[in-house]
Amino acid sequence: MRTSLLVFVLACLPAFATDSSPRPGGIAIIDVGSTTAPAPVVEFDGRRLLVMNAGDRWQAVVGIPLDTAVGPLSVSGADGKAYTVDVKEHAYREQRLTIKNQSYVSPDQDQLDRISRERIILDNALNNWRAKALTSISLAPPVDGPRSSSFGLRRFFNEQPRSPHKGMDIAAPKGTPILAPRDAIVTATGDFFFNGKTVILDHGQGLVTMYCHLSEIGVEYGHEIAAGTRIGAVGATGRVTGAHLHFGTYLNGTAVDPAILLSD
Ligand code: ZN
Repeated sequence: MRTSLLVFVLACLPAFATDSSPRPGGIAIIDVGSTTAPAPVVEFDGRRLLVMNAGDRWQAVVGIPLDTAVGPLSVSGADGKAYTVDVKEHAYREQRLTIKNQSYVSPDQDQLDRISRERIILDNALNNWRAKALTSISLAPPVDGPRSSSFGLRRFFNEQPRSPHKGMDIAAPKGTPILAPRDAIVTATGDFFFNGKTVILDHGQGLVTMYCHLSEIGVEYGHEIAAGTRIGAVGATGRVTGAHLHFGTYLNGTAVDPAILLSD
């Protein structure tokens, strides 16, 4: 009886349904009402959340920051409703890397100025919220290749502690084409100090993806592109130890583990 009920429930889920994964750096999916009413506005920590149409229900998706404490987290609807997410424990490992170019570990004043100018451009693109109807949040893989499970690693460069790793590294040879994982608007392109040649794509409602260390950028700022468009090629620009794609995924301005959103 239980098994048949489970099968029935699974069969009713939309294709590529993304699982709730309520841990620091994960996502929580919350039922926020029937689609017979308009999509509700739902916020977490003052930021608007993505709300998607899943069959006859609205589902809000919360990107949970990596530094969130384990335990209850509260999400509020503009209509006064409150929702609670139970954030589960997740232990992220440490990673120690040796970087040959010392300026990537201890930048000088000019480089620090450049980094703070670039931070504004990146933060603006990563925090953008744009209205768009969505029925899923799944992403096609942007390149084929071995994926590291390195999201959230607490990193040390030349034994100095730095911010945790906020993306997935996908190994691929220099020049491998990178394809847009779904329809998007290009909200940033440039050659950044740490990230090297970078593209940021906005998929609507705060679902944003970032591609770093490219050898070459193939799209222009402001352009609207379709899923599968070539946005550039894998490279080794910026702070890297070799050619790979750094793939970052963001919801409500928060980096979440790309492994949760990839469709296969
Ligand atoms: Zn990376």
